[in-house]
Amino acid sequence: MASESNALPRRVLVTGASGLIGKAIQHVVLTEGGKLDGEEWFFISSKDADLRDVGQTRAVFEKHRPTDVIHLAARVAGLFFLSKENLQFLRDNVKIDDNVLHTAHQMDVTKVVSCLSSCIFPDKTTYPIDETMIHNGPPHESNFGYAYAKRMIDIQNRAYFRQHGRCYTSVVPTNVFGPHDNFTAENGHVLSAVIGKTYKAKLEGTQVNVCGTGNPRRQFTYSLDLARIMVWVMREYKEIDPLIISVEEEMAIKEAVEVIAESLDFKGNIHYDTTMSDGQIRKTATTAKLRRYLPDFTFTPVKEAIKMTCDWFVANYDIANK
Ligand code: GDP
Repeated sequence: MASESNALPRRVLVTGASGLIGKAIQHVVLTEGGKLDGEEWFFISSKDADLRDVGQTRAVFEKHRPTDVIHLAARVAGLFFLSKENLQFLRDNVKIDDNVLHTAHQMDVTKVVSCLSSCIFPDKTTYPIDETMIHNGPPHESNFGYAYAKRMIDIQNRAYFRQHGRCYTSVVPTNVFGPHDNFTAENGHVLSAVIGKTYKAKLEGTQVNVCGTGNPRRQFTYSLDLARIMVWVMREYKEIDPLIISVEEEMAIKEAVEVIAESLDFKGNIHYDTTMSDGQIRKTATTAKLRRYLPDFTFTPVKEAIKMTCDWFVANYDIANK
């Protein structure tokens, strides 16, 4: 398997390509010159196929005949919807993942890299979290449907390896942000939501309302850095076990909010609504395994990446999801 996965020519199919991470991979491959000679890349989104449907999944695989797949497609939403519709998120994601993985297997795809999420980690755990701890106890009950569906990808990867010797693997990014994120107050994650809210407050001359105390700390990972590493994983990583992809350092939400205000030149009042939930105070993940593989990879400094995301949002205000 090892030498096969390095063999060129390679036809790489990226599912879920219109989202935050898919757009970042497109940028790395098509704009930064990350494409190798002998590689062809195909980017598909829900417009091209409903991957919940096995027939449509098969058809899109037959059209592109990939040798490798980066599987990003998932039914996702903000926490509110995730927790209201656990059943739907469980069923849709189980269908999407089974269709993609099994079609890949049937069509002899050499490598599949799927994207998990740090919200699948056990709710009650010790820190830092590492790759071996994913299944050690239930995920947070609020989004258990989504979390268990994502965990099943790891289980299914092991089964394809055990029964068929397939190199189907996964990565687990922490708090991803960047261009093409969801900047809505309702559905955005913290950085994109606060960028959207701050810019709106600047335009309207109002204050910004940040949820919670601002004290929780997160490992904010820039989508372009994640994309660069995921392309490496697709080419080089031989393990079935997941790989956590994250910056090392944690940043307090309050500090990130200050960087956003400065980047957007927002001079108004920032209000911390302490009646709203802080969520988990920390969710520290270890980058030890990543560093064993890529000791020299340089992440974009977080403040710089936040600033670049703010600049992108302002420059693309018309098309941004806000
Ligand atoms: P998490 O890392 O999985 O908890 O997800 P988020 O990216 O949504 O971050 C949630 C944390 O950011 C909590 O501590 C929230 O209180 C805080 N936060 C502050 N303002 C906002 C906001 O406007 N939107 C979101 N999603 N979180 C916010």
